[in-house]
Amino acid sequence: MSDDERTAELARALAAVRARVERACTAAGRAPDDVTVVVVTKTFPAQDVVRLAALGVRDVGENRDQEARKKVLDVQGAAPDVVGLRWHFVGQLQRNKAASVARYAHVVHSLDRAGLVRALSHGALAADRELEVLVQVDLDPPGQVTGRGGVGAQELPLLAELVLDAPGLVLRGVMGVAPLEGDATQAFTRLGEASHVLRSSQPSATWISAGMSADLEPAIACGATHLRVGSAVLGSRPSLR
Ligand SMILES: *Cc1c(COP(=O)(O)O)cnc(C)c1O
Repeated sequence: MSDDERTAELARALAAVRARVERACTAAGRAPDDVTVVVVTKTFPAQDVVRLAALGVRDVGENRDQEARKKVLDVQGAAPDVVGLRWHFVGQLQRNKAASVARYAHVVHSLDRAGLVRALSHGALAADRELEVLVQVDLDPPGQVTGRGGVGAQELPLLAELVLDAPGLVLRGVMGVAPLEGDATQAFTRLGEASHVLRSSQPSATWISAGMSADLEPAIACGATHLRVGSAVLGSRPSLR
């Protein structure tokens, strides 16, 4: 595929996603501007990020540090004039990768345990940067474990307090991944409730990161402010994990 063909393909897919977002916002009585699409570029090359940036994408997501940190450098090398890209780290984060992630990520969606708070905070201070942080909430139906990660709703306040007290970190809200099987609306409703409880003590923690290619409509209906969309924009990934 030529460079132009790939750019045209991405432009079409992006327009289709934006149309879905607009329709879902209209149906929910929400303003499309209130919903940020983070395009998850994992497994796709830096050149696709450069193409997406040229198409107006500003928020990109990655889920593995090793891949992400190289891609950030490759994008800077290939297109030094691309400014204002915001990198979102959306994957499960190991503590020994926190310092690396803190050097390039603007937002970490997947904070899911106390041990990561200190590591991210140290990393942010060492890099002289501020990191925006979402606490990942477990959206498994009660009594079921599907292992998509996150803390139980009852652990959220404590983790939120730790983030608030951590220098270099800014608490923005919550994130969730709906179980593969099961009702996305129910899962996102639970996330909305967790967000509501969090905002009662932290009114500025307004972000709700929910919804991927297959379930962005129910996410928008349940109040998502950030969508994490990969395959609907970039095409299908080799299924590695
Ligand atoms: C890969 C990934 C996405 C995007 O998934 P798609 O189904 O391709 O849209 C969203 N969130 C997380 C945490 C991911 O790892």
